Amino acid sequence: QPNSAEARDIRYHLHSYTNARKHEEIGPLIIEKGDGIYVEDASGKRYIEAMAGLWSVAVGFSEQRLVDAATRQMKKLPFYHNFTHKGHSPVIDLAEKLVSMAPVPMSKAFFTNSGSEANDTAMKMIWYRSNALGQPQKKKIISRKRGYHGVTIASASLTGLPNNQISFDLPIANVLHTGTPHHYRDALAGESEEAFATRLAEELEQLILAEGPEMVAAFIGEPVMGAGGVVVPPATYWEKIQAVLAKYDILLVADEVICGFGRTGNMFGCQTFDIKPDILVMSKQISSSYLPISALLINERVYAPLADESNRIGTFGHGFTAGGHPVAAAVALENLKLIEERDLVGNARTVGVHMQKRLRELAGHELVGEVRGVGLIGAVELVGDKQAKTPWKNAGALGGLVNGLLQENGVISRNMADTLAFCPPLIITEKQVDDMVDAFKKALDAAVPQVRG
Ligand code: PLP
Repeated sequence: QPNSAEARDIRYHLHSYTNARKHEEIGPLIIEKGDGIYVEDASGKRYIEAMAGLWSVAVGFSEQRLVDAATRQMKKLPFYHNFTHKGHSPVIDLAEKLVSMAPVPMSKAFFTNSGSEANDTAMKMIWYRSNALGQPQKKKIISRKRGYHGVTIASASLTGLPNNQISFDLPIANVLHTGTPHHYRDALAGESEEAFATRLAEELEQLILAEGPEMVAAFIGEPVMGAGGVVVPPATYWEKIQAVLAKYDILLVADEVICGFGRTGNMFGCQTFDIKPDILVMSKQISSSYLPISALLINERVYAPLADESNRIGTFGHGFTAGGHPVAAAVALENLKLIEERDLVGNARTVGVHMQKRLRELAGHELVGEVRGVGLIGAVELVGDKQAKTPWKNAGALGGLVNGLLQENGVISRNMADTLAFCPPLIITEKQVDDMVDAFKKALDAAVPQVRG
């Protein structure tokens, strides 16, 4: 029908992260409603939202208390900003709350509207700091292949996925990429996780020495890589990486945009892996994504030179109109209150153990290469040939096939090439995990005849 929502979507709407030509053929899945861990499409079909939207809706899709918090703040003060010494209560309360929750001592919170903006801001703070310290050459930032940090010019440069770079002439200057702690894919034959982690730390040190340590300002990484394929690092990886950074006086930025607020079974991924960042970047689950808001926490090492420089030249010239928006800040505060009151971090830990166990039961399946994850973030990497770890047809074909079958079975996951991710709302129960994994098992079995046929 020419005026159906599907037809109008194809006619008018260019989707994010979507193959435009394929979209004209396939059309959209239009989601109309949500309740708990479920969403419902325009035809009334219900799905378990196994990605919590985009790794983000911690409290589920129907939390009245967040609606009420937004409404109250909308009525009281729908907008104000924090430029030039002005402010409002929700942003002050949220800054205090985040600093008090931080896994390491932090000095200040700065507010942005998306993960990408937050990482751009981190980069600018790092450069500003180097200038303030009289080290203008110290500007290089090391990120990792497969890391995901966003899509703006700077954050897409940090992102280490070819899709985000090749067609855009990125990365920009001063961004370097080092190896990924993806043991299943990148370890040498017979290499232990420990030896692999050592090799990655050595690779990082070699890169720093090749560039000159006085040129390298910071390293950025996700505690667990999300969009790069849910890559859980070897147990000693972060310890070894941090030792190298400390040796050369290089700042560490933890991108907690996915891991933050309970995902890995602790409030922050930094606690799960004993990471001590100088800058901690957060978004998504900070407000369960009911409204856009993101933030950076910075420690004294970052803040002090920034404040000193401000004394000399006047102003830290950076900020967004909607940064720390009062309605988004009020929703984030209520969301954090709910996460604490309902012990959703504890739920992520206990139900997470169950989810990891259930997913690992599929490790023997003929289409499964590896199952990995921690807490309520997990992934299953599919292969056409288990021994050779090679794809069926071309990379992404099997992931797309199984993801489509899974969606037919009432579960929305996401395939990053041949890796399907499971990152449900933190309120999920063990019974709901069983429903999700059972549907996935059915989709896998249904794919076998197509793959082998
Ligand atoms: N950092 C990480 C780890 C992410 O997963 C994402 C988004 O998925 C971003 C940054 C970018 O966030 P946004 O899409 O809000 O710009």
